[in-house]
Amino acid sequence: TSTKPLSELLAQTEFSDDDIVRLLGLTDPEECEALRQRAFDVTTEKTGNNVYLRGLIEVSNICTANCRYCGIRKDNHTVERYTLTEESIVACALHALHEGYGSIAIQAGERRDPKWIAWISRLLERIHKETVCEELPTGLGVTLSLGEQTYEVYKEWAEASGNPTGLRYLLRIESSNPRLFAELHSTPGKHEKILEHRYQALRDLRRAGYQVGTGVMIGLPGQTLEDLMRDIRTFGEMGADMIGMGPYITSNGADMTALGMMEKRPLMQLALNMISTTRLVMPDINIAAATALETLEPNGRVRGIRHGCNVIMPNITPQTTRASYQLYDNKAGTEVGPESNVLVERNIVEMTGRTLGLNLLGSSRRWAAR
Ligand code: SAM
Repeated sequence: TSTKPLSELLAQTEFSDDDIVRLLGLTDPEECEALRQRAFDVTTEKTGNNVYLRGLIEVSNICTANCRYCGIRKDNHTVERYTLTEESIVACALHALHEGYGSIAIQAGERRDPKWIAWISRLLERIHKETVCEELPTGLGVTLSLGEQTYEVYKEWAEASGNPTGLRYLLRIESSNPRLFAELHSTPGKHEKILEHRYQALRDLRRAGYQVGTGVMIGLPGQTLEDLMRDIRTFGEMGADMIGMGPYITSNGADMTALGMMEKRPLMQLALNMISTTRLVMPDINIAAATALETLEPNGRVRGIRHGCNVIMPNITPQTTRASYQLYDNKAGTEVGPESNVLVERNIVEMTGRTLGLNLLGSSRRWAAR
């Protein structure tokens, strides 16, 4: 690992693999603070002072996949399954629009049946039609997070969304270590998912016209700092426009109980180092502060913004189904009373010295420059 002074390392614009591993592994509070400050400054310089909103709607927890870490995997029979109605999703979208959110994120378990595909298309058409207005002539920006699909499906949804400038897809690679990825997605005798397919999906999404978002879980069992460094390199190789990543948190409903790195080093600091280091390596992308940060610490999203995030994804799912979208234990925001209110979000953002980007799509500058 490099021994140059940290101040010299932080002033660089190019980073070696060793530099990245060193930044990820910082534990001394003063050094962590120096990394945070540099990442915050680079964020201001390269993406501006705004933090953008994506109102998260957890549309359905029905899933055909069996990802071992996930509380809504198919074989977890303890969870009650739901799908919101088209009406209630459109109502959430309109709520977001009126609150000044420039965009929403539509997330659900992975399904590939034709009825589901067509239902999502109809939903997207309707959201577009009902949210075009004077303040937002394009209609709401939409980020889809609906798992691996075919190129044809991505294309169909892109056309249905009617808003090519505000069209995004979030599909995490979860880990760029092929062995770890295989372990996370296999049940005995069966490989549920293949990392190469995930990469192909990201290429297909780009070809279908999306701003492409990906990310990983941080602190997975067996994951090393070198793995996280390779994850950052992979974000670059895939040309990611945005990153959504957060700590891995154990889940009662999952098929995996090992704690991973959590025992070895404070998970929160590792997640924050990962955010800041990704920001230094890819200065002009969007980075979202994951809900999982808030689950680890009450002000997790504030810390995320202070470490280089410029997007937050408040949960605007109707209260009644939130508890069933339990990806991991004690997921933040599950028992919050009122629907998300933009004043709360404004407070969170302004605590960091940033401004809230209202009525804006908030596209990634990397994508805009492309
Ligand atoms: N089905 C879609 C997909 O797979 O992309 C979207 C929903 S999936 C539940 C969204 C993300 O939740 C995954 O990409 C994964 O990283 C995250 N997730 C699932 N279980 C988790 C856990 N135990 N800790 C942290 N994040 C988790």
